[in-house]
Amino acid sequence: MFRLDGKVALVTGGNGGIGLGLARGLAGAGARVVVAARNAKKSAAAVAQLQALGAGGALALEADVTDEKSVGALFEAVAARCGRLDILVNNAGTNIRKPPQALSLAEWREVIDTNLTSAFLCSHAAYPLLKKAGRGKVINIGSMLSIFGAGFAPAYAASKGGIVQFTKACASAWAADNIQVNAILPGWIDTELTVKARAQIPSLHDSVLKRTPAGRWGAIDDFRGIAVFLAAPASDFVTGAAIPVDGGYSVQA
Ligand code: NDP
Repeated sequence: MFRLDGKVALVTGGNGGIGLGLARGLAGAGARVVVAARNAKKSAAAVAQLQALGAGGALALEADVTDEKSVGALFEAVAARCGRLDILVNNAGTNIRKPPQALSLAEWREVIDTNLTSAFLCSHAAYPLLKKAGRGKVINIGSMLSIFGAGFAPAYAASKGGIVQFTKACASAWAADNIQVNAILPGWIDTELTVKARAQIPSLHDSVLKRTPAGRWGAIDDFRGIAVFLAAPASDFVTGAAIPVDGGYSVQA
């Protein structure tokens, strides 16, 4: 129910942070993991880690998920090198922290393209491969800002709200193809993205600790279990869901 032997999983932004945590979970359950990101050096280090977990055949492919041609080439390479695709994780993401009145159109587009349009491009390109496999899993990464607003993150909140609705649309469209599509909504997790956030917002570290019932920031390995669940037959009747992995942050008044 929880094994992924023989399955191929593509994780965008799988070379660090939450993406690497998800990739470690999938590799640990037996999947062959393809890490897709721009920084080749960081991706090579991630693949070495995945191989050390015993996941033979982990590989890195360079791609910019905001670029349609690059995404097309990525999925062609997956088909050529791995022969199949069973699991897609749309995890790549970024943020530009400014109030709406200070955000330029170029900055808006950069965040929307990286966080939301990328999920469309990759899901669109993955669909024929998942359909051919006869079953498939798509896991999209949302955020607490899929639920809440934040004055410093208008484009990010719009992209992450959009991810949840896009997840529901794909879940409805592809259920008949035996493809389940779900979202994970991470709480506050210690990664490069939030190191930057903590530098920009000095009170953030303590306010997250105070608001999180678990009493700690999340770690990337907190995502291994949910990755396996949503990628494995265990979740075959779960689709269109948005599951918080947040130490209780979203249920605390
Ligand atoms: P990181 O900054 O650590 O990782 C971001 C990843 O995205 C990197 O692997 C980066 O790789 C990749 N990436 C960014 N832009 C592109 C691009 N154009 N093409 C391909 N890959 C790209 O951030 P996190 O691990 O924190 O974030 C991962 C996801 O989790 C994001 O979607 C984020 O919004 C979400 N999230 C994070 C939270 C947190 O607290 N950390 C909370 C809620 C959601 P490279 O630079 O090599 O391309």
